[in-house]
Amino acid sequence: MAGGVIFRLPQQVANQIAAGEVIQRPASAVKELIENSVDAGATEIKIQVKDAGKTLIKIVDNGEGIAPQDIELAFQRHATSKIKTTDDLTKIMTKGFRGEALASIASVAQIEIISKKSTNQLGTLLCIEGGEVKRKEQLAAQNGTTISVKNLFFNTPVRRNFLKTNQTELRRILEEVYRLAIAHCYVRFDVFDQGSELLHLTKATVKHRLRNIFGTKLRDNLLEINSDTQIAKISGYVLKPNISKQRGNPQYFFVNNRFIIAPYLRHAVLEAYQGLLPEKSQPGYFIFIEIATDKIDVNIHPTKTEIKFEESENLYAILKSTVKHSLGIHRITPPLDFNQNPDLRVPYEYKDKPPTRPTVPIDTNYNPFEDARQKNVLDFQNTPSNNPLKIENISDLLDIKAQPSIFQLFSKYIVCGFDNNLIIINQNRAHQRILFEKFKKGNKTNSLPSQQLIFPIFVSLSIQQTNALKEIEDDLKKIGFRIKIVNKTSIQILGAPQICPTEKISATLEELLDQTIDVSSHTDTIGDMIAKFLARKWAITNNQLLNHVEQNEMVNNLFACQDYGITPFNKKVFIRLDKGALNRKLE
Ligand code: ADP
Ligand code: MG
Repeated sequence: MAGGVIFRLPQQVANQIAAGEVIQRPASAVKELIENSVDAGATEIKIQVKDAGKTLIKIVDNGEGIAPQDIELAFQRHATSKIKTTDDLTKIMTKGFRGEALASIASVAQIEIISKKSTNQLGTLLCIEGGEVKRKEQLAAQNGTTISVKNLFFNTPVRRNFLKTNQTELRRILEEVYRLAIAHCYVRFDVFDQGSELLHLTKATVKHRLRNIFGTKLRDNLLEINSDTQIAKISGYVLKPNISKQRGNPQYFFVNNRFIIAPYLRHAVLEAYQGLLPEKSQPGYFIFIEIATDKIDVNIHPTKTEIKFEESENLYAILKSTVKHSLGIHRITPPLDFNQNPDLRVPYEYKDKPPTRPTVPIDTNYNPFEDARQKNVLDFQNTPSNNPLKIENISDLLDIKAQPSIFQLFSKYIVCGFDNNLIIINQNRAHQRILFEKFKKGNKTNSLPSQQLIFPIFVSLSIQQTNALKEIEDDLKKIGFRIKIVNKTSIQILGAPQICPTEKISATLEELLDQTIDVSSHTDTIGDMIAKFLARKWAITNNQLLNHVEQNEMVNNLFACQDYGITPFNKKVFIRLDKGALNRKLE
């Protein structure tokens, strides 16, 4: 059909789609572009890059192509052929649906696209630079789409400066290709860097594809997993525990063929491996989950790598038992442990029984730090302290059976005794972790509260600082800053994150801008850099008396964090001594 299929989303639908930054680096552009090719039904996708995508990313696909009358529309924000109404958001099977990738890429690069539908005689060429159409013409072309993205971030130097070495950026590109290639084995992928072939994946089965990407050793150590319940269908492979490594084992979850990051589900897999892995080592897995599209929400994050599950607790239990079952039938579970609490054992066979809501052997409303909740002293109102998984985590870690007793030592450490454990927390490091996760969360959800300043603060900046500010302004806004740029060298601060003492706002901001300009200090993303910077800046010091409520609050909020064990700078947050260790030292 030659007719146009792309429609502009009604404003209302567009607004429901959380806004956000999609393109952080060449790999994110590659991801979006090859997702488009897969959505267009391509069976062959060729990816060519120069300078790890910094100067050129060229994708050639044999998909359905774009009609001449649609091609300009495809580059407008919220223009998509994949959904039309709010209702469609619950039925998403395509990779894309937000209609913002091409618009985002086109706003920070020079684009040349040639596309032809098989039903049309001619193809269309379109050149766009910084979002503006420079050229459009009809020409003879192959069926499918070829898109070249040149000089990514040419008009956003800060973002360009955030890029890492070619080697690192190339690794990230390949990682994006793997994620899509594992989920779509029927598609052939070829990757070239500066003309030389980096990856060649023919159409294959999942197992074959895994071998082609990760090598024969991995293939020989795959255990198949399989289960089919009313809640979800789970398939794929886990790695035998004997080839577990401390780091670097592949861990892939796919939900309806979309790669996702899911710490919650990862935890379920770790649980299934419990007792089988040497300390600190990580299992490897490639797990495919098929689930009804109205039971998940993929629209919670701009890059769509995070998903909300309606029945997450059930899914957790099913996944854990599926993996356990596979490890079990391959006779690699440890001999029965008679000391184990039988309530915690999960039945192997879920297959033939209708799934029931799992009974969690803990009271999820029980909060061991209850008395700390009287007052929100340290302003952590956003911490998810009632998350059942988190509570389970803490009890895993601490083996809590009694109320903790807590005190402060040297104005620096918070010491808690739980039952058979003694935990000594560095308060500054703990607070860094808490603030970091809070800022990251604000970054994602756009939701941290801002304190309006009664008297706006005027600040003079260098031109370079103002330019840097323009590029990180959005990220600052998400965590509570409200800034008005008056001209090239002066700004007005109207609001700031609640936690910041008013007298320190302008100095902190200036320091942050200097750090933004200083390429050597760059971390992964602008959002991360800001969160790390402010977490370090605003964390309470190691020379501060805390009252009992504050101490409790700190412990409570720390263990509600996802990575409570380390600071954003990879420093240890606490040490733990259990009774056994103490006995060994003192008996
Ligand atoms: P989304 O993928 O969310 O719809 P994009 O900005 O990535 O948004 O793409 C906009 C539209 O352009 C798509 O909906 C699709 O119709 C069209 N499109 C983009 N890339 C291709 C391609 N490689 N082949 C065919 N159509 C494409
Ligand atoms: Mg897309």
